[in-house]
Amino acid sequence: MENTGSHLWMEIDTQALQHNLLTLQKEAGRSNSEVMGVVKADAYGHGIEVVKLLFDWGLKRVGVATVEEGCNLRKVDFRGEILVLGGFFSEEIDSILDNHLVPVVSCFEEGRSLAEKVGQRGETVKFHLKIDTGMGRGGFLERDLPADWWRRVNQNPFLSLAGIMTHFSCAESDREYTESQFGQFLTFLNHLPQDGTLPPFLRHCSNSAAFLLFPEMRLDLSRLGIALFGVSPTGDARLVVDCSLRPVMAIKTRIKNIKTLPANFRVGYGSTFVTSRETKVAVVSLGYAQGLFRSLSNRLEVLVRGKRVPALGTISMDQMVIDVSGIEGVKRGEVVTVLGREGEEEIRVEELAHRCGTIPHEILCSFRRITKKICR
Ligand SMILES: *Cc1c(COP(=O)(O)O)cnc(C)c1O
Repeated sequence: MENTGSHLWMEIDTQALQHNLLTLQKEAGRSNSEVMGVVKADAYGHGIEVVKLLFDWGLKRVGVATVEEGCNLRKVDFRGEILVLGGFFSEEIDSILDNHLVPVVSCFEEGRSLAEKVGQRGETVKFHLKIDTGMGRGGFLERDLPADWWRRVNQNPFLSLAGIMTHFSCAESDREYTESQFGQFLTFLNHLPQDGTLPPFLRHCSNSAAFLLFPEMRLDLSRLGIALFGVSPTGDARLVVDCSLRPVMAIKTRIKNIKTLPANFRVGYGSTFVTSRETKVAVVSLGYAQGLFRSLSNRLEVLVRGKRVPALGTISMDQMVIDVSGIEGVKRGEVVTVLGREGEEEIRVEELAHRCGTIPHEILCSFRRITKKICR
């Protein structure tokens, strides 16, 4: 995997991914829940190729944000169930049906246009209904739904209710609010007829944070995104390390050139770093155009030969400068780990997120355009 001639690449650790899937499936099984893999945004930046691997290892359902993402999965021949979480316009319904996607209905217009279109085609479509229990984004407020909505759906030969879901807004940070959202969801479900009038449907509400922190909220399906990729939804790595989940993504680049700068020499745009002593620096091929946030400038460490070294000055569009003073004999072409492990040292997504004040999800997505190498 080393020195392949490229300047910058992402390594996907498929063994870690498979291990995470099996670990999470086993854990979900203890609560009689099934794992749905959430793979929006190119599988959190890992690339849609990994979704096919997940299917081969036994993941039967995934969630995506858009119809387009669902169609892209079908284009690479993904055969599992695809739930479209993020809504759709009426002109996308043909694609939903042609690609056998399962839409989540989050507002009246979606429900109406779906029923109409499916009726015209004389087909039946499975769908999930989304309830807003306090996220304030997609989904029906219970009070906005007519009391007999389920009867109308039930009587429509073209619509088949396959699931009811809600989404938590702060499972990682607010126990009380999450419990109140969960309570509202259960109340909503309890208001539905319990006498077998409705066909069986799947109930689901948990994301990774809720799954790990509130096992009682797993219900029939657990919608797991970031945990599948071995990264903590809270930013605290212990939460996933304690369940033996392992990071899947690593980002590597190579040293393009090395030189020694004198003391009092300025480094990078804006001269935000000045050497305090003679400093051996190296230039590497990674900048904000490739997804490394510029707000990590002067706050970032990378690994060279298993040692942590600081990055110096402002991150450029395609390059950055690192301090290799402490590394004897370091050479042009050597591999630098920006994310991932080298021996005992590790740079985690959670660390990068913490250093620039964002959440781990955003760090993963920001690297999504980097060339992938699938490591088996
Ligand atoms: C993204 C998403 C998830 C997964 O969230 P993670 O924190 O990555 O586990 C679950 N449900 C919905 C509706 C989502 O949009």
